[in-house]
This record gives sequence, C-alpha cells and structure tokens, in this order.
Amino acid sequence: MNIAIAIDGPAGAGKSTIAKLAAKELSFIYIDTGALYRAIGLYVYRNGVDSKDVEKILPKLEEINVSLDFNDKGEQIVLLNSEDVSSLIRTPEISMYASDVSAIPQVRAFLLDLQRNMAKTNNVIMDGRDIGTVVLPDAKIKIFLTASAEIRAKRRYDELIEKGMDVKYDDVLQDVITRDYNDSHREVAPLKPAEDCIYVDTSDLDLEQSVQKLISIMKENM
Ligand code: C5P
Repeated sequence: MNIAIAIDGPAGAGKSTIAKLAAKELSFIYIDTGALYRAIGLYVYRNGVDSKDVEKILPKLEEINVSLDFNDKGEQIVLLNSEDVSSLIRTPEISMYASDVSAIPQVRAFLLDLQRNMAKTNNVIMDGRDIGTVVLPDAKIKIFLTASAEIRAKRRYDELIEKGMDVKYDDVLQDVITRDYNDSHREVAPLKPAEDCIYVDTSDLDLEQSVQKLISIMKENM
C-alpha cells in the first residue's frame, strides 16, 4: 500500500520548496499539482483565449494532453502535448491564468484521475489546494501550510528576481491577494484546510526550520 502525504495551502507558502526537500529526505516522489493547472493556463493563453471565457476554454480541453515525467534528479517535468513546458509555466501571467482556469469544474475533473493515479502507484508528497479535501481525502498525513500574505509575496518576489524577472513587490503582493481570494472563494474545491489536517504557519520560520518541522510531523505521523 502506497503512502500519500497531502500538503495544501495558499500561493507562496513555500509548499513546493519544502515538499521537494522533505520528499528527498523520505525517498517519496514529489508532485506539484499547480503545474498541471499552469499547463492548461499556458495552453489557453497561447491560443489567445481569455482565461475567464469558459465557453471557449471547454472545447480546448479536448486538444490538451498533460502529463508528468521525472528527470534523472527526480525533478518533475510537465509535458503539454509532449512539449516540456516546465519553465514556461512559471511567469506571473500564467499564474493568473492557472488561477482562473482552475475555478472551472471541468478543468478540475480533467486533472483528477491523473493526480489520483500518480498516488496509486507511488509513495507521494503531493502539493496543491485541494489534495487533502478532494484529490486524496484518504491521505495518511494532511498538512495545511500557510504564512502571512506579505511574507509569501516577499518570498515569491525574491524567487522571481533571482530568476531575472522584472517584477515589483507591490504587484506580486497584489497577485498573491487576488489568487488567495480566487482560490478560496471558487465553488468547486475551494482552498480550505481539511478537517483532519495539521496546520503549520511558516511566517516566523526560515526555510530550514520549515523543512525540519514538516519532516518531523511526517515521521511522527507515518
Ligand atoms: O501552486 P501554484 O501556485 O503553482 O498553482 C497555480 C494555481 O493553480 C493556483 O493559484 C490555484 O488556483 C491552482 N491550483 C488549484 N488546485 C491545485 C493546485 C493549484 O486550483 N491542487
């Protein structure tokens, strides 16, 4: 029987960085489900369709094949119709597209089996917004990871600047606030802590402390 660990939380809480390191330590596969919504967002964007135009987006789903692969280092690669789009999906523009398309029930249904199948065949740490509540309600451990909006925006801003992107802190903060609102107010699978989750606030923790905290929670509860 494979073990699944769900990590949910708002944008920029450090889910992916922390989960990646914890997965390495525990020899689990790390799955970043946000990348799947981003790949769909990218496809919609490339086709010149507005990210809120549900009528035009739905037929596009038939043209999309999203899958995950892993490179030699165990890093996740996102394939959109066989093209590696792992880096292309990381722009602020595609973040907003992903947030918008993820509110469409058919988009969520489209990605559900892919996520569940990954957990059937591997020990996984899966991060997202609805992993503990919808995708893997029977996950062995559910963690809700959060931090204040300002701290999350600062972390995201530093990350984007390091990648050489030309962004302003205030814009990143506004994006974080808008995405939080969208993610927690959509009708289907809104962002919310699962009833049986362990709630972790990393506002006052640095990366190393956050990773250690999560690893100890995982080891205690496994
Ligand atoms: O995690 P990340 O910021 O890459 O996710 C991009 C967007 O995809 C989020 O803003 C959220 O709207 C959506 N998402 C989701 N459900 C998930 C993962 C991501 O709705 N499980």
